[in-house]
Amino acid sequence: RPRVLSGIQPTADSFHLGNYLGAVRNWVAMQETHDAFYCVVDLHAITMGHDPIALRNRTRISAAQLLALGLDPERCTLFVQSHVPEHAQLSWVLSCITGFGEASRMVQFKDKSAKAGQDSTTVGLFTYPILQAADILLYQADQVPVGEDQRQHLELTRDLAQRFNSRFGPAYTIPSAYIVKDTAKITDLQDPTIKMSKSASSPNGIIELLDDPARSAKKIKSAVTDTGREILYDEVNKPGISNLLTIYAALTMRTIDELLEQYDGRGYGDLKKDLSEVLMEFVRPIQERTKGYLDDKAQLDKILAVGAEKARAVASVTLAKTYKNVGFISPA
Ligand code: ATP
Ligand code: MG
Repeated sequence: RPRVLSGIQPTADSFHLGNYLGAVRNWVAMQETHDAFYCVVDLHAITMGHDPIALRNRTRISAAQLLALGLDPERCTLFVQSHVPEHAQLSWVLSCITGFGEASRMVQFKDKSAKAGQDSTTVGLFTYPILQAADILLYQADQVPVGEDQRQHLELTRDLAQRFNSRFGPAYTIPSAYIVKDTAKITDLQDPTIKMSKSASSPNGIIELLDDPARSAKKIKSAVTDTGREILYDEVNKPGISNLLTIYAALTMRTIDELLEQYDGRGYGDLKKDLSEVLMEFVRPIQERTKGYLDDKAQLDKILAVGAEKARAVASVTLAKTYKNVGFISPA
């Protein structure tokens, strides 16, 4: 079985539809086909300024949602990044073989730092792609599912792995991008030209899985669509309605063509009304299950402790190899 690694940041009180349809849904499927490692990447969640209490809550809420959405700790390794100290340790070694110019070329950094401004831009934000490389290489991942926005970071990871292997002796598997077909990219409901995002979407642009279902239904109904009337799938000229069709198809396991046929001759209002009902039915059981996991914190923390132990068993071997190859002596 190919090994796969992926992570999600605990940067919000709820995941959004894009996180589920674009990522977590595939993680659930990959439990059957891959040796899967999934982590809540809390180390990554402190690069832009954060509140400690919120982070603590969000880390548990993230883990609870992953379980509620179908990750099974018996079939995958689910853990919290900071529970495995090897991530930070490997990150340091990798940062010492990363060129300053090389890191400076990361487009995500340029975008995010431009938005934050010089005074709020941290060195952590600058080096986070190196930590991401460590996340992947520690587990000798063969494949990493990546969206378009993460492609450049995976390239960096591959470059660093190759560089280390040839300079200091083989230590890492070179990971490749795992492109999942039918992966939905969900756009912002108020601005369908940008992606739905925990940190960048306005409240009405984002559907949060744990939000009051009636409120989410309202957001669907007030989603921005074009002035035409016809229900067509056209990402360029009708990005708003196309996004709704993508969501609808993904949640009901139907094809866009089936939906187009069903809504032939009907208006946007009909589509929005039906989709909002589909959505409410979808989130209710997820909310219940998430609450169930959060109600028993001790049990949740125990699941995460077991996951961390499984993760460390792999990560510690890679770190030991790294330290040896790089020339550190081991403690007597
Ligand atoms: P942030 O704004 O804090 O970066 P995010 O919404 O981008 O949050 P991440 O935790 O960075 O979420 O990403 C988790 C996973 O969700 C990644 O695999 C990412 O590719 C995927 N993802 C995020 N937004 C979308 C989206 N709009 N459509 C599809 N997939 C998405
Ligand atoms: Mg993101």
